[in-house]
Amino acid sequence: MHELGLCDALLKKVDQIAKESELEGVNSVTLDIGTLSGVIPRFMSDCWEAVIDGTPYAETKLIVNSVPGEAECLDCGKIFEADLEKLVCPACESLKLRPISGRDMTITEIEGY
Ligand SMILES: [Zn+2]
Repeated sequence: MHELGLCDALLKKVDQIAKESELEGVNSVTLDIGTLSGVIPRFMSDCWEAVIDGTPYAETKLIVNSVPGEAECLDCGKIFEADLEKLVCPACESLKLRPISGRDMTITEIEGY
């Protein structure tokens, strides 16, 4: 489960941004997680609770948006929404695919005070 490491890194990032922006605290952090990133949003929420415990961000909510990833079929050129559960071209059933988007995890919003 690498979500714990990701949450740890996320917390450091939030802390850095909060200090740079001279925030007193952070109400919520919004994350976009691509469906091809392999990161499971529910695990992120659980791990977040674990890493913020006992820190100045213990009350900070994590809001996770799942963003559909796109892949391109290398055989027929079709571009489609893909997730890790079914990585197969819907047009020709090829397994030769190239991910285009959805492999990232991005902080989209930090609501501070
Ligand atoms: Zn195809």
